[in-house]
Amino acid sequence: MHTRLLRPLALIALLLCGLALSVYLAERQAERLRLQEAGQQAQEQLAAYAGTLQTLIDRYRALPAVLALDPELEAALQQPLTPALQHRLNLKLEAINASAHSSTLQLMNADGLDIAASNWRLPTSYVGHDYSFRPYFLEAQRQDTGRFYAVGVTSGIPGYFLSHAVRDGSGRFLGAVVVKLEFPGIEQAWSQSPHVLLVSDRHGITFIANRSAWRYRELQPISAMVRETLASTRQYDKKPLTPLHYQQRPTQADSGRLVRVDSPELAGDYLWETRELSSEGWTLHLLRDTRSIVDNTHAAGLAAGGAWVAVFLLGLVLQQRWRIARLRQRTREELQALVEQRTADLRTAQESLVQAAKLAALGQMSAALAHEINQPLTALQVHLTTLRMILDDGELEEARQSLPRHEELLQRMAALAGHLKTYARKSPGGLRETLELGEVLDKAMQLLEPRLRDVPVSIHRDPAQGAWVSGDAIRLEQVLVNLLRNALDAMQGCTSPQLRIDLTLRDGHWSLSIADNGTGIEPEALPQLFDPFFTTKPVGDGLGLGLAVSYAIVRELDGDLLAANRAEGGACFTLRLPATDAPEEPA
Ligand code: ADP
Repeated sequence: MHTRLLRPLALIALLLCGLALSVYLAERQAERLRLQEAGQQAQEQLAAYAGTLQTLIDRYRALPAVLALDPELEAALQQPLTPALQHRLNLKLEAINASAHSSTLQLMNADGLDIAASNWRLPTSYVGHDYSFRPYFLEAQRQDTGRFYAVGVTSGIPGYFLSHAVRDGSGRFLGAVVVKLEFPGIEQAWSQSPHVLLVSDRHGITFIANRSAWRYRELQPISAMVRETLASTRQYDKKPLTPLHYQQRPTQADSGRLVRVDSPELAGDYLWETRELSSEGWTLHLLRDTRSIVDNTHAAGLAAGGAWVAVFLLGLVLQQRWRIARLRQRTREELQALVEQRTADLRTAQESLVQAAKLAALGQMSAALAHEINQPLTALQVHLTTLRMILDDGELEEARQSLPRHEELLQRMAALAGHLKTYARKSPGGLRETLELGEVLDKAMQLLEPRLRDVPVSIHRDPAQGAWVSGDAIRLEQVLVNLLRNALDAMQGCTSPQLRIDLTLRDGHWSLSIADNGTGIEPEALPQLFDPFFTTKPVGDGLGLGLAVSYAIVRELDGDLLAANRAEGGACFTLRLPATDAPEEPA
């Protein structure tokens, strides 16, 4: 695959993986928090339900105990039962039951036979039935009080039986008083709850439920022994018990447990919270449908996904910006290196040009210079011949006197040769020394002496005044030679050539102006005067480099070179250079 395609593909893969992961993690986390919260809520609700149930039971617990102390009931159990007595007892129990709002009240003798009951008028009357097999009777016989939740064998209505023993003064067991509570009111009230509410006995069988399908369910496996006891006490009598099929689901929540119920009708996922009702040996259950809890975790997932995409895009933008910045930086560095390279190249080229122009000027001056050297040589020749003749005559003194003239000629030649050598030397750019402009002008004039002598130029020059500037002596001399030669060239056809050289100080700058009364400059030539290879001179006479090179030299010294025509005819060139302090010891 093309490598350029790889990066976008990898980015898309990263985006999608991150999206899936963030959505998944956020939903799991939200689910965990919701379940935890729901578990806490369920526990609070369970505590409230347990409270109401307990209050109801406690209210009736005292009733059989109080009735057991009734002397009339105690007396009735100690004498033979006559129909009249039984009728009286029935009426009494009926009245008490009505005012206590209990379900039924009954009186049993020592054999567990019911002798009186509040429901004596009904077909489901307890009177005459044997309840000796019921645990609440056996418990009362054994330990004074008993309690038992059971389905009524006579009425078929389930209820909570609370019993208390009736004893004579010596403690002999005479019988028991039993009150029965039914919980339809509680089930009715609980049915308003959106959750499943159950109460189970110590064997794990549900007997109170706010959904009828959940009643008489086995929440845990029942042993054969327990099943036998259930049969003998007829606790749930003819009600069929069915096991509840469910399995535990793994959960990260700290409270409650998640179960999946498989039993038909009840199938679903629930958060199952329990609370012990230890005084009765019962357990309260609250089952909450997890769908309602974890349904809106998608919002959290969506938010997390959105956040991830935003962070991802932001990262992408930042990375892109960083790359662009890096690219810019690199380009800038490359450009800078290129500029430095080109500048160095240009400097080399310029130095070569300066040197070339100088040598060209020297070449053009060579005829005059050769003549300048040839003249003293011829003179020396003549002098030497004269000297030999004098020596032949033995005129030693005269010979000695002629020697200074020879030396003078030799010195003149040596000075010129030395000067030429220095002038021709390649001078590196950027050299700075403190110079006196008048002295530089002297040297330039010296180089041009042969030409100046040939034409009758009248030179007007200001007296020396210590014009100190900073620069390279050889290069400045080159500039002045150019300006002077151009002036002499322009005045070639002139009958009375005049050269005027002025040196003035203004605004911290020295201005050296060289004015001639030559041809002047053509107005159209003025703008191109300093361009390289611009010349009006015939081929062989001018290269057109003199002013261009001079201009470059002066600009490098932070100076300026200006050209103008004079009103009275001729041209004037002005060289401007920043003035500097005189050196401590003048050179
Ligand atoms: P070159 O001397 O080789 O021609 P320069 O750059 O020194 O090259 O001069 C360029 C041109 O400027 C000259 O050809 C000439 O036309 C003009 N010029 C320079 N100096 C003067 C002057 N003093 N008077 C008139 N024209 C001048």
